Amino acid sequence: MQIAAYHRQLTQKLTDIGNPNAELDARLLICHVLKLDFTNYILQQNDLICAADLDRLATLSQLALSDMPISRILQNREFWGLDFIVNAAVLDPRADSEVMIEVLLHFLPPSHQKLRILDLGTGTACLLLSLLTEYPNASGVGLDVSNQALKVAQKNAENLGLSHRAEFIQSDWFADIGKQKFDIILSNPPYIPSQDIENLANNVKLFDPLAALDGGQDGLDPYRIIAQQAPLYMNENALLIFEMGHNQADGLFVILQQYGFDCAEFDMQKFTPKNPNGQIRPRDGLAYDLGQNPRVIIAKYRVKQN
Ligand code: GLN
Repeated sequence: MQIAAYHRQLTQKLTDIGNPNAELDARLLICHVLKLDFTNYILQQNDLICAADLDRLATLSQLALSDMPISRILQNREFWGLDFIVNAAVLDPRADSEVMIEVLLHFLPPSHQKLRILDLGTGTACLLLSLLTEYPNASGVGLDVSNQALKVAQKNAENLGLSHRAEFIQSDWFADIGKQKFDIILSNPPYIPSQDIENLANNVKLFDPLAALDGGQDGLDPYRIIAQQAPLYMNENALLIFEMGHNQADGLFVILQQYGFDCAEFDMQKFTPKNPNGQIRPRDGLAYDLGQNPRVIIAKYRVKQN
């Protein structure tokens, strides 16, 4: 069978099971098995696929048709234009999380400053490592409670040539981090309310680690812990930035305020969808994702005045 025909067939099957990225996923699988980059994939559309590759494609297609995310099949996911290894120990990086990087770059444009960055619940370390590629003299710490996740993070740092600027520590939030201060603290913590987990789509529920999803009764437990303790680990003027669930902005603003954080200096015009009716008004500190959902909050600690 020719590459183009195989692609058409697999796209159709993936579409039938409700995969919204069927066409892209089918191409990624074919490129992976045939070891083609995008250009060669286009050039070789009419080439025949050999029997051995067809076998291999059949096996991997079966996994894709059982809802396994393509990144898990290929053990690889692109984030911020970089390649990350993924496996069962880590949350699959999501494109929406790139908003955190964009917001940080906007409010703290890259310079040669020796920034210190802390990534809480680092997983693949996609956030920390992407930032290290943008801030040339920065260094950072990725924390995770999962030792298996840290192995993936470490490997990703090595593959990207960033190990000398990234340290990984096993710790339950701040418990084992010691005395250190940072200029940026970021986290995309588990934020799904426990009782909502069973209703998640199969490609999330069956493949992302539960510990990376479950944020306790209202999904906000990790934010309470982090907001309460973060000030001890922040340099003056340090930034705190979170990803959150699409309906958690109000709850998170309350928590941040409660622990002395303030968002007033962050004008979010640039990160607010433009819409003709003006229903979405920019809110200080709040950024929207690609699907126009509230997704990221940035804040500063307001040092108490005596
Ligand atoms: N920091 C990682 C990410 O953004 C993992 C987050 C998590 O496991 N909740 O992808």
